[in-house]
Amino acid sequence: MDNLVIFGPPGAGKGTQAGLLAEKYDLLHISTGDLLRQEVKLQTPVGQRAKAIMDRGDLVGDDIVVPLLDRALRTRSTHPDPDSQDDPWDVHRKGKPRRPEGCIIDGFPRTVAQAQTLEFIFGKLQRKIDLVIAIDLPRDELVRRIHERAAISGRSDDTEDIIRHRIELYDLQTQPVLDYYRVSGLLVSIDGSEQIADTNHRICQAIDARIR
Ligand code: ADP
Repeated sequence: MDNLVIFGPPGAGKGTQAGLLAEKYDLLHISTGDLLRQEVKLQTPVGQRAKAIMDRGDLVGDDIVVPLLDRALRTRSTHPDPDSQDDPWDVHRKGKPRRPEGCIIDGFPRTVAQAQTLEFIFGKLQRKIDLVIAIDLPRDELVRRIHERAAISGRSDDTEDIIRHRIELYDLQTQPVLDYYRVSGLLVSIDGSEQIADTNHRICQAIDARIR
């Protein structure tokens, strides 16, 4: 079982890469941003608390995001259709794919405290992180992508000012998490300035070299 964590500033394409890797390596893709957006969409109490914070581009509190991650890691709650009674991961259902055992976590941890929390949760589940992937991009390329993304994404936190704020938070709060993983030897940094397929190829090479 492989458990990966992927990092990247807004605009680096971490969600896209996480989806591609989940497919290729048969991993469960857990995006805390997607889990939160789902709560907002369903107007749950958690979603109602998270919405204003996310719209400002700030980090939601650990009391909001940690239980969502915990639930996603333990249960089948990352079901693609939460309203359906069908479980696509059920091993007994003929013709349905089995539930992936490994996972790729995208969007968590974002602070050193969250990294410690993840270690604690994984410890309880007798799992460990096998590799941490950091997609890196020169800031001028990020700014160019911000303009592009602000025009097309449709996300309420994707205005230019808010994306800049999210990048600042990434540099301030999330970069120290990368140092944390660098020290433990788990980190690979990948240049994300080329096309999606190039970045994907680089990441796959790193995964195959390190844990395959
Ligand atoms: P991006 O990487 O482009 O910022 P995400 O989808 O990962 O997008 O996150 C969107 C928003 O969801 C964040 O700006 C933040 O408000 C919230 N969020 C996601 N993950 C976390 C987390 N681990 N801790 C706190 N807030 C989070």
